[in-house]
Amino acid sequence: MPTLFKDQVPENTHPLNVVEGASQAEVDAWTVDRPPLFEAYMRMAEELAKRSTCRRLAVGTVITDHALENVVGIGYNGNARGFPNDCDSPTPGACGCIHSEMNALVKAPGHLSDKVMFVTASPCPMCAKLVIQAKVRHLFYRTAYRRPRGLEILARGGVTAVHYHRWRDEWRLRGSAPPP
Ligand SMILES: [Zn+2]
Ligand SMILES: [Zn+2]
Repeated sequence: MPTLFKDQVPENTHPLNVVEGASQAEVDAWTVDRPPLFEAYMRMAEELAKRSTCRRLAVGTVITDHALENVVGIGYNGNARGFPNDCDSPTPGACGCIHSEMNALVKAPGHLSDKVMFVTASPCPMCAKLVIQAKVRHLFYRTAYRRPRGLEILARGGVTAVHYHRWRDEWRLRGSAPPP
C-alpha cells in the first residue's frame, strides 16, 4: 500500500503529514489546495528573519509543539537584550550575535518533548547540538547553510531534518491559486 504525504513532500515524515496504507487512487487524487501548516510556520520564520539585526545573515526561527498547535518559542539572530542593535565585530564567524535557534530555544519549555523547529537556514554545529539537547524531533529549514556539518550532527542525534521549499513560491498573493 502506498504512503500518502499530505503536503506532497516525501521527506516530511512528521506523523501529521503521513497517511500509511492509502490507496493509489487516493494518492493520485490528493491535491494541496491551501498552504500546509508546515509551510505556514516556515513563513512565520521568514517574517521573523526580517527583524534580524545581524549584518552577515538574517535567520528566523519558530518552534511548535509536536501537534503543530502551539508556538512555544520564536527567535531571530541579533545581539543581547539591551546591547546595541548591531554585530559586535564585522569579522565573519565572530560577529557576536546570538543565533536565531538559540534565541528561540531559550524561550521554549525544556520539558516538552518532540518539539518541531522551523528555521530559515540550516543550523550551525553548535545550534544543531542544542536542538538535539532541547528535544526537538523534527527540523524544517528553507535553505541549506553553506557548511553541511550541522545537518550531519542532527542526523546523528536522531533529529529528522527536512529541506522545505516545495511550496515556497505559492499562495504569495491574496486569492492566488495553487499550481495545477
Ligand atoms: Zn551579527
Ligand atoms: Zn547557530
